[in-house]
Amino acid sequence: MKLIKQGAEAKIYLAEFEEFFGVTLLPGERVIVKHRIPKRYRIEEIDVKLRKERTIREARILHRAKKFGVNCPHVYEVDIKDMKIAMEFINGFRLKEHLEGIPIEERLKICREIGRQVARLHGAGIVHGDLTTSNMILKEGKVYLIDFGLADFDSTLEARGVDLHLLQRAMESTHYTWAEKGFNAVLDGYGESLDEEARREIEEKLEEIESRGRYRERSWVG
Ligand code: AMP
Repeated sequence: MKLIKQGAEAKIYLAEFEEFFGVTLLPGERVIVKHRIPKRYRIEEIDVKLRKERTIREARILHRAKKFGVNCPHVYEVDIKDMKIAMEFINGFRLKEHLEGIPIEERLKICREIGRQVARLHGAGIVHGDLTTSNMILKEGKVYLIDFGLADFDSTLEARGVDLHLLQRAMESTHYTWAEKGFNAVLDGYGESLDEEARREIEEKLEEIESRGRYRERSWVG
């Protein structure tokens, strides 16, 4: 197993499917192992409880999202003693870099697809919590959402609005030269599966969240 990322909460390993499970179904297939690491500053009992809860929640969310047709990693195994999740490795291009190197029409097409995926996720009663183009992978023409570590079961309009708002902010900083067009395309894709009323509701919510943010920024300055 090879360590590919050491985050604040977890270590991410990449392993050969065969090395991990002792069998192989598809040659060359790999697995991602996400291991939630102990936090020494937390009381041990609380630390164990938190890590266990988060591991279970992330696996349940991935499972449910998959059931609702969201493109996300398959969960292969959950180990609540060692706080590990083994999941499908999505071998493709990270959208953060990929989008910058392709023509604008293609970018917008992918953004519409991002919107459809997020709508499907929200339709499953899940918010992602960290929607950025770093957490999206293009594989065989399909957009995959990854990293559900901050995701939650929440079907409120507020939570869905915040989820989309965070994506908008992330796109404004990462893809600043075309973020407005890009996010509008995300919203187009998002709205496709909604009726007019639901579409208006989420758009109004986004405006409200944005104006709350602006007010806060102003009051910081003032
Ligand atoms: P995470 O801690 O879940 O944010 O993952 C950190 C990084 O590991 C991500 O930004 C990806 O580059 C990579 N990664 C995590 N899970 C997967 C996956 N299922 N397939 C491919 N790459 C992944």
